[in-house]
Amino acid sequence: MSIAYLCRYDAATAAEELEILRAVIGEPIVMGPPHGDLDEAALAAVEIAVVANPAPGILARMPGLGLIQSLWAGVDGLLADRTIPPAVPLARLVDPLLATAMAEAVVAHVMALHRQLPAYREQQAVRRWQRLAQPFAAECPVGILGLGEMGRAAIDLLRPLGFPILGWSRSAGADALARLQAEARIVVNLLPLTAETCHILAAPFLSRLRAGAALINFGRGGHQVVPDILAALDAGRLSHAVLDVFETEPLPDDSPLWRHPKVTVTPHVAAETDAVSAARCTAANIAAFRAGRPVAGLVDRAKGY
Ligand code: NAP
Repeated sequence: MSIAYLCRYDAATAAEELEILRAVIGEPIVMGPPHGDLDEAALAAVEIAVVANPAPGILARMPGLGLIQSLWAGVDGLLADRTIPPAVPLARLVDPLLATAMAEAVVAHVMALHRQLPAYREQQAVRRWQRLAQPFAAECPVGILGLGEMGRAAIDLLRPLGFPILGWSRSAGADALARLQAEARIVVNLLPLTAETCHILAAPFLSRLRAGAALINFGRGGHQVVPDILAALDAGRLSHAVLDVFETEPLPDDSPLWRHPKVTVTPHVAAETDAVSAARCTAANIAAFRAGRPVAGLVDRAKGY
């Protein structure tokens, strides 16, 4: 039985990642399509598939598959492939380094919004010397949508800075969401993209936010409805939007988001997988799987995360 690596990165990145996986896991790993050819016998021999955006349909051609390990935290793209055998356990990446990276990105942008850096940048562009009111973190409640690995790490870094935190998760219920919407000055989306959360950042959600709230979307592009966010910004209901993820990536040249003065665009970099750390987490999960111990990050297919 073998371990296969399947990704759709460019060939050089794929080769580099494969070398890291081989070195850290300490076993031969075969490269699957599109970068490597696996005949039917080789496909049948795959026991564990380590994947980063694999080609749709390929996992269904591995009858001996016992575990699918994603190198990404979000599995919405993977689950869109309806051919993946439902009985095969699928694990998403749970990597403390990824959560740390996300927490740092959240703090960076929350601080920038809280200390009004976009407004000072606009003033600098027209050489205006004007002090804005100095806010304090204690007066700036931050709402976190999604209290999983990412949300909890962000809260752990935000709290010591003095920001009151309002959180919402699936188990937290509608009251927690209503309170977050009414009170948060900055709302950070760290939800997984599922049937329930798709297009949640739309007019009905935005209309319930505190006037002048700012929005940070570090989840997925499928969470947001861009025309609704632009309308809320133009109406002053939203003061700023930091968007890292988009339904089409790279963000097309003609997107109005690029040039909107109240939008900050980053190219899906809030938290990037560190290849060595992800390989270590993968090695630990493979060892757990083979020893019959619990595998970290098992996805509930019915819930979609
Ligand atoms: P996770 O550990 O699975 O946590 C997901 C959280 O979302 C849980 O608290 C869950 O609630 C909540 N949730 C799920 N469905 C919900 C719903 N319908 N209503 C309310 N809450 C809901 O996931 P994670 O590791 O924190 O990652 C979250 C997402 O971050 C990923 O799926 C990915 O899309 C995104 N991400 C983005 C980047 C980037 O660079 N932009 C990098 C990494 C990850 P319960 O606690 O009640 O289950």
